[in-house]
Amino acid sequence: SSSLTLDSSILIVGGGGTIGSSTALHLARKGYRNVRILDVYPIPSAQSAGNDINKIMGTSLRNPVDKRLSVGAEEMWSTDETFRPYYHRTGRLDCAGKPESIANLRDDLEKLQAAGLGHTVKWLDNEASIIEHVPQLEMSPIQGWKGLYFKDGGWLAAAKAIDSVGHELQRRGVQFTFGASGTFKSLILAEDGKVCLGVCTEDGTKWYADRVVLAAGAWSPALVDLKEQCVSKAWGYAHMQLTPEEASQYAGCPVVYNEDLGFFFEPNEHGVVKVCDEFPGFTRYKLHQPFGAPAPTMVSVPRSHARHPTDTYPDVSEVTISKAVSVFLPRFEDKDLFNRALCWCTDTADANLLITEHPEWQNFFLATGDSGHSFKLLPIIGKYVVELLEGTLKPDMREAWRWRPGSGDARKSRRAARAKDLADLPGWRHDPFNVQWENEYPT
Ligand code: FAD
Repeated sequence: SSSLTLDSSILIVGGGGTIGSSTALHLARKGYRNVRILDVYPIPSAQSAGNDINKIMGTSLRNPVDKRLSVGAEEMWSTDETFRPYYHRTGRLDCAGKPESIANLRDDLEKLQAAGLGHTVKWLDNEASIIEHVPQLEMSPIQGWKGLYFKDGGWLAAAKAIDSVGHELQRRGVQFTFGASGTFKSLILAEDGKVCLGVCTEDGTKWYADRVVLAAGAWSPALVDLKEQCVSKAWGYAHMQLTPEEASQYAGCPVVYNEDLGFFFEPNEHGVVKVCDEFPGFTRYKLHQPFGAPAPTMVSVPRSHARHPTDTYPDVSEVTISKAVSVFLPRFEDKDLFNRALCWCTDTADANLLITEHPEWQNFFLATGDSGHSFKLLPIIGKYVVELLEGTLKPDMREAWRWRPGSGDARKSRRAARAKDLADLPGWRHDPFNVQWENEYPT
């Protein structure tokens, strides 16, 4: 293959989302002059998992390379003008009441201490010290809880941050194609089938390029055969409207996360609070043939909320999100929820990213496998995708993010159980009676 130069043409499929926009940013900042983003929707893509009012920011040390990623991301969120305005340092509380979950908290603490990050976190041993750090919580629902308090964490105004990246990309001359001519349909391969020459999109446009990066998030395993390394799953959220007076009482509230219940954030500038439940996700298995698969196979295919705005979430989610509200925000348990929605990510078996060149198609690179915890990496992850393209990615990252089919069960991943399928869960689908979108793919 031709060697990479600053004039090489690089296509980023899914560049309106989190990892793709970050990759375009790092390419543009390094001086690459011929970068084009392809996406279904304009940046920030309406169906990106990152197109959300907020996401949790904090250190997580699940995998060997996480410390470098977390520290690098924290630094860029704190200092880089494209990102800094969107980092809200409210602090973050991880808390638990069940014995096994408290054991997980202790485990997290030990990992942080072993990584030399013990100073960033404080162990809270009882309800009173939890309330001292998060006075908005109430004593009676948190009996027996312990907590880990991170004063430096907080939340990220997610969609606004991707939008900010989009503005910088525009200023730096990155090209964008959205809609049918930006929607991936297949790869263009050389006659020998071993080299990727570009991408064919839904309207038949053929985009030729020296390098193609697939950063299509939850859509990645439905677009290209990833040999079951990624299983796409949906998680739900709902919003709640506070009055200005209520919102002022919750302003600056740390993000509260409980692995058995879910999490919530301080109200945004409109007094809207987002509440999520925590569970192993929902799949949506269908018979489907991604590019490169020899025959149709069962793949969990996302259903875009942007394309299906009447979709909500299953009835079971209403129960679990309401439970989270009654524990975290008991004074608001009678408030109406709105904007109920599902948001799609893609899990790998070991919850490590999949950032690697495809083993069969030279010049085709994967940048996906977010495993539900990668928004916080927005400022930094593209740096490593660029290193992969340039052949300078460090061996430990290459190893963690390698092509690894057959290495485990991505349907379970590191979660408490295998994901349930949306086909078995009523309540989320509210198509207008005359619309038959179900067979429509890819969005
Ligand atoms: P995305 O950002 O989804 O981008 C994929 C892109 O591919 C989209 O722009 C899409 O339009 C595009 N695309 C799809 N199909 C095509 C096609 N055919 N052609 C071209 N483009 C296409 N992470 C955190 O760090 N902290 C959190 O608190 C957190 N909370 C979360 C809460 C929920 C409810 C969910 C669902 C996720 C959460 N995450 C969180 C995870 C985080 O949002 C994801 O890990 C991250 O956004 C995934 O980035 P991505 O680039 O892989 O995918």
